Amino acid sequence: MTPEQQAEIDAQRAQTHTTRRATAPGMEAHLYTAYPVLDHGFVRVIDYMGDDAAICQAARVSYGRGTKAVSNDEGLIRYLMRHWHSTPFEMCEVKLHVKLPVFVARQWIRHRTANVNEYSARYSILDREFYIPEPSALAAQSQVNNQGRGAALEGQEAARVLDWLREDSDRAYDHYEAMIATQTASGNPQQGLARELARMNLPANIYTQWYWKVDLHNLFHFLRLRADSHAQMEIRVYADALCRIVADWVPLAYAAFEDYRLGGASLSAKGVECLRRMLAGEEVTQESSGMSKGEWREFMGVVE
Ligand SMILES: Cc1cc2nc3c(=O)[nH]c(=O)nc-3n(C[C@H](O)[C@H](O)[C@H](O)COP(=O)(O)OP(=O)(O)OC[C@H]3O[C@@H](n4cnc5c(N)ncnc54)[C@H](O)[C@@H]3O)c2cc1C
Repeated sequence: MTPEQQAEIDAQRAQTHTTRRATAPGMEAHLYTAYPVLDHGFVRVIDYMGDDAAICQAARVSYGRGTKAVSNDEGLIRYLMRHWHSTPFEMCEVKLHVKLPVFVARQWIRHRTANVNEYSARYSILDREFYIPEPSALAAQSQVNNQGRGAALEGQEAARVLDWLREDSDRAYDHYEAMIATQTASGNPQQGLARELARMNLPANIYTQWYWKVDLHNLFHFLRLRADSHAQMEIRVYADALCRIVADWVPLAYAAFEDYRLGGASLSAKGVECLRRMLAGEEVTQESSGMSKGEWREFMGVVE
């Protein structure tokens, strides 16, 4: 974040407007602020629509704000979440500005139920900003999960990897700059390669930025998948930052989401049957459960 960018954010935060629309005090406090994520990234809220009451208002198809007692609203929101009655949650929307490494953006963009506008590297010159992991995040390939990481690299190996990441990023950016320049290093004029072509030289740890607008239902779906321990750490830290913001925006809906989705678990019919047998005192094993080894491991992860 440059001082000029920070000044623009501060200027926007200094302004207030009167409105007849419902606002969420928790979200007003977050508006425009850039919350740092990873080494150069951030998330910030640009705009939002709706609050907890808007979910209830839509569910009841009310004429006015439709606000009943908070306890009624809480019960209704929990009911909607519990029974996958999702459309009232779609009545709330949020528009974010996210700065993130390209390899994280590739995972994020798979969530299709959102509106995106990305910084144009055809039009603009990318900044020299690359994600370099903290040494503690520099981990070896997991031996148990092909899609994961294990213990942190140590000693010379860790140092060598960090050096290569830094050197390769810098070298690629030096060449990017040299290719788009209209002067050679020795000061002679040259045509300068188009930005849309020169960028192909840049590695996937370079940062990009976008505006991302999504409704609350689909944001919860994103958070359930990406604030989960199975998600890669580099996208999970963005999801965690968003969870903190959403908890302040729609506290009742977020509490229901945390309870039923993030912290909850769903069981297959076989799982329910096994649980019943266990509660009746039977010693059920993977062999007698009718489940595969993987299913059994996940089932025991829930019930143990
Ligand atoms: C831990 C993890 C590992 C992953 N690994 C891989 C991987 O190895 N390779 C890979 O390619 N992807 C991978 N993904 C991405 C994953 O398969 C999904 O693409 C991503 O999570 C987006 O989910 P989604 O499609 O449900 O979300 P969204 O695109 O936001 O869609 C939300 C829901 O809308 C509906 N929907 C949206 N668009 C359509 C459509 N066109 N047709 C029908 N229904 C639609 C579906 O019900 C969908 O669940 C991984 C994701 C996670 C969380």
